[in-house]
This record gives sequence, structure tokens and C-alpha cells, in this order.
Amino acid sequence: MIEADVAIVGGGPGGYVCGIRAAQLGLSTVLIEADRLGGECVNYGCIPSKSLITVSKLADKVKEAEKYGLKASGVSVDFVQLQKWKGEVISRLVSGIELLLKGYHATILKGEAEVVSKDRVIVTTDQGREEVSCKNLVLATGTRTSSLPGLEIDGDLVISSKEGLDLKNAPKRLMVVGGGAIGLEFASMFQKLGSTITIVEIMEQLLPGSDLDLVRVVHRKLEGHGAKIYLKSKVLRVDKKGSEAAVEVETPDGKIKVEVDKILVSVGRKPRTEKLNLPTLGVQTDPRGYIMTDSRMQTSVPGIYAIGDVRGPPLLAHKASKEGIVAAEVMAGMPSAADWKVIPEAVFCDPEVASVGLTEAKAVEAGFKVKRNRFQFAALGRALAAGEPEGFVKVISNEADGLVLGVQIVGPEASDLISEVALAIEMGATVDDIALTIHPHPTFPEAIMEAAESAAGRPIHQLKS
Ligand code: FAD
Repeated sequence: MIEADVAIVGGGPGGYVCGIRAAQLGLSTVLIEADRLGGECVNYGCIPSKSLITVSKLADKVKEAEKYGLKASGVSVDFVQLQKWKGEVISRLVSGIELLLKGYHATILKGEAEVVSKDRVIVTTDQGREEVSCKNLVLATGTRTSSLPGLEIDGDLVISSKEGLDLKNAPKRLMVVGGGAIGLEFASMFQKLGSTITIVEIMEQLLPGSDLDLVRVVHRKLEGHGAKIYLKSKVLRVDKKGSEAAVEVETPDGKIKVEVDKILVSVGRKPRTEKLNLPTLGVQTDPRGYIMTDSRMQTSVPGIYAIGDVRGPPLLAHKASKEGIVAAEVMAGMPSAADWKVIPEAVFCDPEVASVGLTEAKAVEAGFKVKRNRFQFAALGRALAAGEPEGFVKVISNEADGLVLGVQIVGPEASDLISEVALAIEMGATVDDIALTIHPHPTFPEAIMEAAESAAGRPIHQLKS
């Protein structure tokens, strides 16, 4: 029997970060992971997808190299080497996490955990059953892919993102069912790697819930490169014939048939709670099965905490990690809570989309008299020099005092740019604060400064509206 102050079930970005922080704070900590440290993000999500996206973008850039006076011929993607490299990136991160946990004297237990009571967990390891007795229990078991009736994942013709990241080549004809963040990242990536793309989305826009102005830019680019996008549409039936399938899709213009070689299903995720015995423990969940907590990550049962994806949307690694830190600090007696104002989001499609704080629609809904100012990347020296003039930065501010309420970006490096604004909003910055901050030239973040200058009423590289 292992005794610990803290037992954490799940070693993803929520669980492992919680483990590091708890151990740093002097709590004896056991981290239980059934698969690989790093969880979905490091092994099957954020990191492998961004590794492949990086290469797909590079391949795409080289294809148009002549435009820039660069002669390149015979360029092709070696999937074996690509997958090997992706595997090395993952392994390096997984080993780093293990080193950190051990360095802070946390115990790593590899095996599947079954929660028996709030202070007892049974772990099935390769060596047999191990019992963990704990004063505090953290549930960080994440989510798994959902599917749809008739579109069950077979791992071959009908795949989830997990298999999609391990493909040995780019499918000739790929159908992506679900045009959310994951679906769009795969669509952009495989389009660049040579696949013909069809996207089927049940809602009336791609990236449902996101600002339509941004989404239009991505939609246009996908279509411009030959993708067929069916909105307000759904898959009715899949007829498999060997290594291909005929898919019947119901669209607003009637039923159509699409021949494909792979169908990637990205229609959402569901909480992974089977082994947690939540009803017996009395841990409350919401109607979708996500574990409910207060702002200190405490569930309805004192001593049991929940963090990360299993606690509900937004399903993002950085949110999971911050919640892990809060839980660890609360268990150590510190006055921590989820007191952040905003959680930035980024989608690594092409061009990238990133958002933080309120969209224009949400700001209006919240009762603000809103100012909305844009700056186009086409007017930015750095973007032109990088050959990436698409997209814009949109700043939403409060007309009365210039407070920055939200920023949405579609364009190059949007995922990196958004952090500056997240900091601005956390610090209660106004558009003047951003406009008055000197940004180095020529860089992409100047687009944020330029949009803020417009919002402050003194645009430089665009005409006054
Ligand atoms: P997870 O990472 O899911 O970790 C949970 C862990 O718990 C798993 O390792 C699992 O094996 C383990 N576990 C479950 N049950 C048990 C048990 N009974 N016993 C022992 N262990 C158990 N997020 C971003 O922020 N940015 C991105 O770019 C991004 N890209 C993504 C791309 C894809 C294709 C996918 C699928 C996801 C992506 N995400 C991204 C989401 C991100 O992966 C998750 O938000 C994040 O992994 C959640 O972390 P977590 O710790 O809550 O759970």
C-alpha cells in the first residue's frame, strides 16, 4: 500500500502539472497514468498535430517557392521519416515530464486506476494490483473521442484524430465530419499534404461559436484550394467498398454522394469517467457527464478535486494545466482559485484563428457600447515580407473608457500573437496601453498595436474610419 497526501488519476497536462506543483509544495504525491505521461495533448493531440501541421505548412511554402525566387524541385513528403520525427518530439516531452516529476519526488504509478472511495484507489499495473491510500484525490482523466451512429470509428476507413495522426500517407480523398477546431486543423493539414478535402458540418458555419468574420477567411482559403464544404449538412450513410467508401450526405440542396478513401470523425469529445465510480462516491456531474467543481476545483465531495477536460469545456491543455496548479495550491492550503479573466483559444488551421475575451456579439450581449477596430495583415510589412498577407486583427473595446474586452485574430502566427492580448486583458489594459507600447518593427504583433491605435482614434497605417 502506498500512502500519499495526494493521488492524481491521469497524467495529462492537468494531472502532471498538478503533480509537479503539489510535490513542489511538499505534498507527498502519487500520479497514476494508464497510458503515457503527457496524456492526450502530448501523445495524441496538441503536440503530434502541430508537428505534422508544421511540416505540411513547410511543404506548402516550398511548393510556391518559385514565387519568392527559390528554385526547389522534386519536393515530396516522406511519411515514414515524418512519423519518426513526430514520435521523437513526443518521446522527448514524455521523458521531460517524467524527469520533472521524479526530480520533485513525485511517485509515478503506471496502470489503470479504479477509485474505490475518496481516500482509496486500486491501480492495475503490469506487476499486479497496487493500493493507494490518499488524503486528497484529484480526477484528471480527460475525455475521449465521440462518434455518431453509423459513423463508428473502425480505425481504418473511419478514423478519429488519433489514427489520423498516425497515417502512413495522405489519403487521396479525405472527408472530415465536424468542422470544429480539430476537424479544421486536419482539413488544412491534409489539404497541404495533397488530399482532396470534403468537410461536412451540421451547423451553419465552420468553427461554430467563433466570430464569423474570422471563419470566413479560413473557409475561403480551404475552398480556394479545392475543398468542398457542406454546412447545415449531415452524413446519412456510409457504404464501405474495400479501401474506399461512398458517403451519402444530406445538404440543404438535397442528398449527395461523395466517394472517399478516409473519413475523419471530429464531432466532439466525452468525459472519461468510467473507472471513477462517481455515483457511488456522490460526485456530481452535469447533464453531459462532466464533473462539476467550484472555482477551487473541489467537487461536491470534500477531498476530491477535478481538473482539465473531465471538468468540461473549453477542452484546452493550458486550461487543464492552470486548473492543476489551482488544485495543488488549494490542497497545500493556499488561497488559490480559478480567478483568471480569460482563457485564450487558438486553432492551428490555415490561416490560424485565435481569440481571447469577448467577441463583438458577446460584448454587445453583455451590455457594453462596443468599439470594433481592425487592422489587415495586408498592410503590415512583416506579413508581406513573410508572404502571409491574409487575415486581420480585430480589437473589441469599451467605447466609454477604451478597456480592451476581446481580440480576435485570423492570420499568420495568430496562436502566438494572442498571448499579448491575454496579458493586456488580465492587467485591465485599455487600447491606449497597447497603442502606447512600442512594438519592434517589422513584426506580426505590430498588427495588434495598429488596431489599438485605430481604436484610440489615431491610426497610422490606415485611414481614419
Ligand atoms: P488528458 O490529456 O486527456 O489526460 C488524461 C489522462 O488520464 C490520459 O493520459 C489517460 O490515459 C489518463 N486516464 C484516464 N482514465 C484513467 C484511469 N482510470 N487510470 C489511469 N489513467 C487514466 N488543446 C490545446 O490547448 N491546444 C491544442 O492545440 C490542442 N490540440 C488538440 C488536438 C487534438 C487532435 C486533440 C484530440 C486535442 C487537442 N487539444 C488541444 C486538447 C488537449 O489535448 C486537451 O485539452 C488536454 O489534453 C486535456 O488535458 P487533461 O489533463 O485534462 O486530460
